Amino acid sequence: ALERYASIRDTPCVTACGQHIGLHMNAGLMADLPSLANSGAEGVGLFRTELQFLIRNQMPKRTELAAIYARVLDAAQGRRVVFRTLDIGSDKVLPYMKPNDEPNPALGWRAIRVGLDRPGVLRMQLQALLRASGGRPLSVMFPFVAQLDEYRAARAEMDKAIARERRLGHTLPEKIEVGAMLETPSLAYAPDRFFAEVDFLSIGGNDLKQFFFAADRENERVRRRYDTLNTSFLTFIERIVERADAAGTPMSFCGEDAGRPVEALCLAAIGLRTLSMRAPSIGPVKHLLLRADLGAVRDVIHRAREEGEQSVRPAVMEHLRTMA
Ligand code: PEP
Ligand code: MG
Repeated sequence: ALERYASIRDTPCVTACGQHIGLHMNAGLMADLPSLANSGAEGVGLFRTELQFLIRNQMPKRTELAAIYARVLDAAQGRRVVFRTLDIGSDKVLPYMKPNDEPNPALGWRAIRVGLDRPGVLRMQLQALLRASGGRPLSVMFPFVAQLDEYRAARAEMDKAIARERRLGHTLPEKIEVGAMLETPSLAYAPDRFFAEVDFLSIGGNDLKQFFFAADRENERVRRRYDTLNTSFLTFIERIVERADAAGTPMSFCGEDAGRPVEALCLAAIGLRTLSMRAPSIGPVKHLLLRADLGAVRDVIHRAREEGEQSVRPAVMEHLRTMA
């Protein structure tokens, strides 16, 4: 797939109507790093940090993590990398942690909930990230934030880690951004000040969709039952984007749907300006976006909504046929 789209690899992703859409990649392994150079990604919109914890049979040390994160930043060569702090619990259980028998792990003690209740690992990880930056800009985001106070508490951990590094005389990042993933419906209705306080937001569409439709993303019987281009879900996302725009807060989308060309097109049409996806999806998504008129697609989406369609997909596919 990478070869097929090689001719547009270095073409900036600007739509036919003149809108730049930032295409970033999702990563989590050292093996993903070469893709940064050869996929045309503008940066890493989501670096999942679970794998370095999952592949060992004991807790990784801070120095080991710092070395890994530094290699990621080296490979990025100044492009932005968004490190997501540990999202364990739910489907990802650490071999050296006592498994919790939870009836609903996706709704359970996971991600930032664990990070705030047992802050040792979160603190270690934040220190490792600060060390890894070695003065370079640093972007960190917290997973599964469900309300403003959780974001504030997590950010306070970051502030403490920064103060500690300063006391110890270590070089601090020249710029630090602290964001949150928006993957619980509750955050869509957070107070205005939440949108103003976060440095940036990224919609975790995999989780947001599973909670929006109450359909387990791991359950084959239900996981494809509801279309991402379902009118209700798109309206929901559009409203979230409007709220972020009103607060002047950068917003991206990093769930798997960002890597599906028609879904990516619709997300751009309802106002998303940054999409993060698996590296091999960047070519196909860019290929479609380069030809797109986002205003026309937005009109198609809104018309389908007014007409009471369950999904905007048929109308958007019809629009794409007339374009071809
Ligand atoms: C998401 O929920 O969309 C996401 C990007 O995070 P993960 O798939 O790791 O839960
Ligand atoms: Mg998620």
